[in-house]
Amino acid sequence: MTPPPNLPLVIAKPRELADLIACVKQYNPNADTSLIEKAYLFSEEVHKGQKRSSGESYFHHPIEVAFIIADLQLDTVTVTTALLHDTVEDTVATLPQIEEQFGSEIAALVDGVTKISQISFQTSEEKQAENFRKMVFAMAKDLRVILVKLADRTHNMRTLQHLRPDKQARIAQETLDIYAPLANRLGLSALKRELEDLSLRYTKPEIYYKLSIQVAKKIKERDQYTQDVLTMIEGALHEHEYHNVYVTGRPKHFYSIHKKMEKRNLTYDQVYDLTGFRIVLETVEQCYGVLGLIHSLWTPVPGRFKDYIAIPKANFYQSLHTTVIGPGGEKVEVQIRTREMHETAERGIAAHWAYKEGKNISQEASKFSWLNRLVEWNKDLQDPNEFLETVKLDLFSEDVYIFTPKGKVIEFPAGATPLDFAYTIHTDLGHHCIGAKVNGRMVPLKYKLKSGDTVEILTSPNQTPHKDWLKLVKTSRAKSKIRQFIKVQEHESSKVVGEMILEKELKKEELRFKTLLKEGILQQAVEAFSLKTVDDLLSSIGYGKLSAKKVISRLQLPSREIETTETKEAKESKETKHPLQRIVEEASKKSTTRHVVKVKGIEGLLVHFARCCSPVPGDSVVGFITRGRGISVHTRKCPKVFDSDPHRLIDIEWDTTAATERAVKIRVLCEDRPGLLADMSGVIKDQDSNITRAQIGTTKDKKAVCLFSISIKNLNHLSKIISAIEGVPGVLRAERVQKKER
Ligand code: MN
Repeated sequence: MTPPPNLPLVIAKPRELADLIACVKQYNPNADTSLIEKAYLFSEEVHKGQKRSSGESYFHHPIEVAFIIADLQLDTVTVTTALLHDTVEDTVATLPQIEEQFGSEIAALVDGVTKISQISFQTSEEKQAENFRKMVFAMAKDLRVILVKLADRTHNMRTLQHLRPDKQARIAQETLDIYAPLANRLGLSALKRELEDLSLRYTKPEIYYKLSIQVAKKIKERDQYTQDVLTMIEGALHEHEYHNVYVTGRPKHFYSIHKKMEKRNLTYDQVYDLTGFRIVLETVEQCYGVLGLIHSLWTPVPGRFKDYIAIPKANFYQSLHTTVIGPGGEKVEVQIRTREMHETAERGIAAHWAYKEGKNISQEASKFSWLNRLVEWNKDLQDPNEFLETVKLDLFSEDVYIFTPKGKVIEFPAGATPLDFAYTIHTDLGHHCIGAKVNGRMVPLKYKLKSGDTVEILTSPNQTPHKDWLKLVKTSRAKSKIRQFIKVQEHESSKVVGEMILEKELKKEELRFKTLLKEGILQQAVEAFSLKTVDDLLSSIGYGKLSAKKVISRLQLPSREIETTETKEAKESKETKHPLQRIVEEASKKSTTRHVVKVKGIEGLLVHFARCCSPVPGDSVVGFITRGRGISVHTRKCPKVFDSDPHRLIDIEWDTTAATERAVKIRVLCEDRPGLLADMSGVIKDQDSNITRAQIGTTKDKKAVCLFSISIKNLNHLSKIISAIEGVPGVLRAERVQKKER
């Protein structure tokens, strides 16, 4: 695809050894550049006659890579390595030759770059993890290997237009998947931005070119606005005696705009903060001072202030971020940092050792805690497979990187849970998720995923999303999928419940729901409450937003005569079909029905047991029609029942034919003697029950208190177990624990 003429093509201007040396001398005046000179001549010699796809001399490539390394202000060893990086792979030169001419340090670096170049990330999913490991391995040995590789990739991306389209797409995708994230983790944000934008240009050319035109146009339009904000900031800084300050308003890079549009589903015109303002100061105190100044100038947007100075990112990035309501009510993003922080922000790890010749690189690298860990493990674990198991991807600490069972890597925000994972794979996998295995072990749904975890989702066809899940998930995809499900489900069940409540209330007035519906009388209430349909009306009643009485008061009721006939009809109908039958039918269609209680002889109800009183078969129980979650079963003594809306209570009884097990808690007070626990668990087992949890404590007077969760079939079963426990020598008292029941 030919870019439109307004886009700058990367024009290669020949650069010479003298330029390179001048560039290095600029940041490191005392550099011994003889090694660079020697490498330049060596590389030129061995690459002689080779051409790149662009038709230009191959040697041009290592020179440009060396310039990228010099721009990062790295040591002469790294610049030299850049010049030599393709000699072993692509020319007659050999590794022993390199070692002989340039020493073992450079030879090892060249060898490392050569090896990484041979890693293909385009293989099957299983291999992806293994390849990533190789890269981590090489990086842990010497970070400079990765820096040269990143520079190599950057130049290749800059000159990608000369390759075949299929190759362009493949290399660009690989850059986006592997190298741009890696640059980000190493804090090389300038390289990261360039790699991302170049990748976008080849993976999604239509989007890239459209964006580039839009951005250029809009920046022109907004030039005055940007200038105004800049002037105001500069004016305020000057007034408050901040000198030596550097302020810019820079357009964001295309890829980040594209991501933002994609993530929030925005059109280009809806993206506002296209320009980021940056204030670079001398000291940390000044940073906080200027933050206060900006906040006094414009109102900050709540929740958008981030203090990366107090809490640096894993890649050492430090800055204050805030978003304020700028002139004209527009959101303006401002970053405030010191000069040193700015260096780190742009050049990342490179800023940390830079040109300090002879300084121990691994010592510098050890400031990166994740890398430190890798280096440590690298020492201990010689076997690469073992290394993979131990390390996997701890490299990425802000986002977590999770493996599918097939070895594919997926990125998640920190704090994500197995549910996020499940919803990312497939909505149905999320909806039916009952648990997960992480690295082969069962974990609860609230488990927070860690980088390197391999996650396997367990499902059940009976499982459905629960409201509480919303608190567990981090990704917006999972959240919206769960909300969507609950909304539909709640609407459905509240409709059913609403109909029941209304019907009950209508009966008192000797009216009949069906007739009112048929004759369009309910429609009056629908309109009176500005709703759309009768379903919405019922759903509102079910939810408790509207009372049935209020609804009835708005109906213009037909004359008495008709009512009487209707009532007669209603009575007849009641004999053939129980009014609750419909609810039951509706409810049993959905989800986890447990056939353990009956409602006035109707089976198959959507029920769950209230946690407050935890009733067991045999307890005297009552049902409470919840808003949207079927019927909850309470004991008749439960205080919650007395507080409940009596209209929502229904009579239920246990279905004695259903085989069911319920968990109850029992408390046992006993002597503190050895073997007692074993005796107690023995008698519980003899009674055909199971201990699912046990908790032991001691009292002040040297007695033991045991809390057991056991499974029981019914009350009768429970009392048999309790008397069996009380029969154990040393047991003083055993009783059932009923939380919150006074
Ligand atoms: Mn190369």
